[in-house]
Amino acid sequence: MFDTLSDRLSGIFTKLRGKGKLTDADIDATAREIRLALLEADVALPVVKAFIASLKERARGAEVSQALNPAQQIIKIVHEELITTLGGEGRRLVFAKQPPTVIMLAGLQGAGKTTLAGKLSRWLKGQGHQPLLVAADLQRPNAVNQLQVVGGRAGVDVYAPEPGSGVGDPVKVARDSIEVAKRTAKDIVIVDTAGRLGIDEEMMQQARDIRDAVSPDEVIFVIDAMVGQDAVQTAEAFRDGVGVTGVVLSKLDGDARGGAALSVRHVTGQPILFASTGEKLEDFDVFHPDRMASRILG
Ligand code: GDP
Repeated sequence: MFDTLSDRLSGIFTKLRGKGKLTDADIDATAREIRLALLEADVALPVVKAFIASLKERARGAEVSQALNPAQQIIKIVHEELITTLGGEGRRLVFAKQPPTVIMLAGLQGAGKTTLAGKLSRWLKGQGHQPLLVAADLQRPNAVNQLQVVGGRAGVDVYAPEPGSGVGDPVKVARDSIEVAKRTAKDIVIVDTAGRLGIDEEMMQQARDIRDAVSPDEVIFVIDAMVGQDAVQTAEAFRDGVGVTGVVLSKLDGDARGGAALSVRHVTGQPILFASTGEKLEDFDVFHPDRMASRILG
């Protein structure tokens, strides 16, 4: 992940070494190269534009410290702009004042929702919570079973329709799960929902119906970091179709160019809450914009 972008940026910075002072022409040339590097990493155009505009303004401004040479100054600004693009301070999960806290997972099929449900519930359990996983993905034949498997691994209860019960209404399953959570003293409900391979109105409507049935405290949009430029369209569709309050990046362990990771905050207007970095339940952590920015800069 980010290997190409990291290499490109370090090449750009190397060229600045040894320069005594940066002229406007130097700044323009550097900004142009960084722009290209970001575009080649599949970062969305509006994000690149905002990044470069801010970079140029700051590089020309007088704010730069005398203690740093020009290359270090540019690296510092790029580092800070990366942090801003990735969400600045970051944000933690919102919990309901009155339990249970309801977290709804949304995203395309294969994005990593069910895996995340297991990871998140294990993580929350480790923090002393009592989560309940809810199988409201009744589209994919194996989805309920898969959630039961990850729930078993995480040591967390799963609420699902009885096999063969004929209960095929994900909205009802989601709604009923809130009562089940109250009855069984669970303080967090994590609702796994169905995704499709592409955006479709029926899926969005179902997600909205589930949302309206459970009034979630968080609607977490799960996005596969490997998807490149398509990430923008998908993120916009979920932002407008369901309303997103937070994002989880999955498959950050892959060798994607990183564009989705750098675009999704800007596109959804919502913070990245967690990062998923593998198939195992423990391959998961709170997202730290500053650490990711440092990783990109190598
Ligand atoms: P869903 O359709 O959104 O519920 O997606 P799944 O949770 O079923 O994940 C789809 C596939 O991606 C599965 O094979 C998962 O094991 C895999 N997967 C999920 N998260 C990650 C991750 O962070 N890294 C890697 N390498 N694979 C992941």
